[in-house]
Amino acid sequence: MLSRDAVLSELGIGPLWRLREKAPDQPAPATTTWEELADAVARCTACKLHATRTQGVLGVGDRNADWLIIGEAPGADEDAQGEPFVGQAGKLLDAMLAAIGLKRGDNVYITNVLKSRPPGNRNPEPDEVAACRPYLLTQIELIRPKLILALGRFAVQSLLDTDEAIARLRGRVHQFQNVPLVVTYHPAYLLRNLPDKARAWEDLCLARRTMQGL
Ligand code: URA
Repeated sequence: MLSRDAVLSELGIGPLWRLREKAPDQPAPATTTWEELADAVARCTACKLHATRTQGVLGVGDRNADWLIIGEAPGADEDAQGEPFVGQAGKLLDAMLAAIGLKRGDNVYITNVLKSRPPGNRNPEPDEVAACRPYLLTQIELIRPKLILALGRFAVQSLLDTDEAIARLRGRVHQFQNVPLVVTYHPAYLLRNLPDKARAWEDLCLARRTMQGL
């Protein structure tokens, strides 16, 4: 029987030790199970955000989901409750998911690029993103989603390693860690910019079509 690492390698996904090898300067979560990953995030002191957060926010939902939704970072509500997207933006995200027949927790896993809240909801800083990256990569290894939906400029740019605006990146399918990735606007942005809701709807339809074609 193939080992887990051999299977991941067949799938084009590196084993966990390779994540550490690729980024020797980064704190690697020595994790292979969800319990170990959750524990590593809960105890993480890899960046300065640990000093101001209430708790790490790993993610929520179906750990065998086809859909992986990735936002930016926990806000105040998420930091307090320990779950991503529970505030106003979360309500809109749930409505966006419902519009394409999806429900939080049912074939959907939701997480953020950062697992700790930046104080005052400031933008994440590069060292914080780098410190948190192994956690996200481990989540992707564990979930093996069929499709990633990246929400908002920050998540999109950091996942795709680009400075391009969402307006230029939307409308096509990208790849992250060999997983198809569709970009759209962040629900918090859409709450303030109603006209872009129509574009977000197009993005959701692209994501649904892409998933149906996989
Ligand atoms: N915004 C995000 O990007 N993530 C959350 O969890 C909440 C708000």
